[in-house]
Amino acid sequence: MPPKPKKMSKKIIIIGQGIIGACTAYTLARAAPDYEIVSIAAHPIASGATASGASWGWVNAHTDNDEEYFNFRNASRLMWHDLIDELPKLAAQISPSLVFDLSDDAMKTAQAHHADWGYPIALVERAQILEHLSLFRGAPDLALFTQGEVAVETELAAHHLLERSGATKVIAQVHALIPHGSQIKAVMTDQGPIAADHVILAAGHGSPDILHSVGVEYALDQSFGLIVRTQPVQKFLTTMIMGMDYHVRQCRDGSLLIGGAFDQHQTSGIDYERAVQSLCAAVETAFDLDAVGMEKLVIDRFTIGKRVLPYGGRPQIGRVGHYENLISLAMHGGVTNAPIAAKTASDLVLGQPRCAYSTPFNFTRIRP
Ligand SMILES: Cc1cc2nc3c(=O)[nH]c(=O)nc-3n(C[C@H](O)[C@H](O)[C@H](O)COP(=O)(O)OP(=O)(O)OC[C@H]3O[C@@H](n4cnc5c(N)ncnc54)[C@H](O)[C@@H]3O)c2cc1C
Repeated sequence: MPPKPKKMSKKIIIIGQGIIGACTAYTLARAAPDYEIVSIAAHPIASGATASGASWGWVNAHTDNDEEYFNFRNASRLMWHDLIDELPKLAAQISPSLVFDLSDDAMKTAQAHHADWGYPIALVERAQILEHLSLFRGAPDLALFTQGEVAVETELAAHHLLERSGATKVIAQVHALIPHGSQIKAVMTDQGPIAADHVILAAGHGSPDILHSVGVEYALDQSFGLIVRTQPVQKFLTTMIMGMDYHVRQCRDGSLLIGGAFDQHQTSGIDYERAVQSLCAAVETAFDLDAVGMEKLVIDRFTIGKRVLPYGGRPQIGRVGHYENLISLAMHGGVTNAPIAAKTASDLVLGQPRCAYSTPFNFTRIRP
């Protein structure tokens, strides 16, 4: 006799297959293996329509902090370590970073605060930097050096997490949530309605319209960032570098992922060709690439990503209004924060107490 199909006890819809939706699917599947998870996205992650497909993928907890936000992000950073242990094929690796996009005074203050909070962070001088990064002719006189941060290949990692979740994947546009009293009973897609016991909204910039369909007014801010990927270069960079004019790290396949001081509020009138060339030129000037047989970097592609920026600047994770089975997750720093956001969503669905570090970052409708 063929085995009886497994009886699923609850059906959960996750809207969004970016890093937040994918990580939530994986975390929930681990916590509740008998639940049926349906993961819906209008666009695959690499379509150019997601923030995750255009991210620099740096997991860190030492910028733009107060102690509450530090605790939240640091807990998430450590959850990335657990994911790396659990999933050997996950495209994420623990890596040190060198940060000098701040004034000397700001670096000293950041080091003192974060070391007090237990973060693996030190101040290093040029000579120490060159001991480890001999090709770094643009090394600064002073920098912050951290250990235990994580470099995530966001697109690949999201794919892997989603695959491992076993979720049913649907590519469809969600037009509306369908309420019934204090519950959402289904989501309406361009392929028809899909019923659910819980709905988790991880739709980035798609979230406001979806929430609007059940009378919840919600808004997100945005800014645009440019990331350049080069063709592979011989391995020379073992540290993620955050300089004033450029951020650079070397991926597993040898390609360089370069971002930089490009934070625009609109995309019209920008000379991308020039912006791309100047990012690459900054890296060519900073490193002795001749030593790895490459005078000029060869550009493979670039992306223009739209950051998901909640008003108020902090993540917004929690139940929405009076709807008992609707959870929304929206945040910048979403690669860093994905594991703790996912754990919070999973705990809420399962009726478990919310992780203390995420409690201050509830869903609120902060308006501009
Ligand atoms: C240039 C740049 C650099 C960054 N660097 C870093 C970094 O170094 N470290 C870090 O931690 N963070 C970084 N971030 C931020 C981080 O990438 C984002 O916070 C994160 O990717 C957001 O993920 P998300 O899953 O919430 O949204 P997204 O990746 O945008 O995914 C949204 C998903 O929802 C789906 N969707 C939307 N609307 C609908 C609809 N109506 N119906 C169905 N599906 C829908 C989309 O198709 C998509 O699958 C960076 C962002 C940018 C742009």
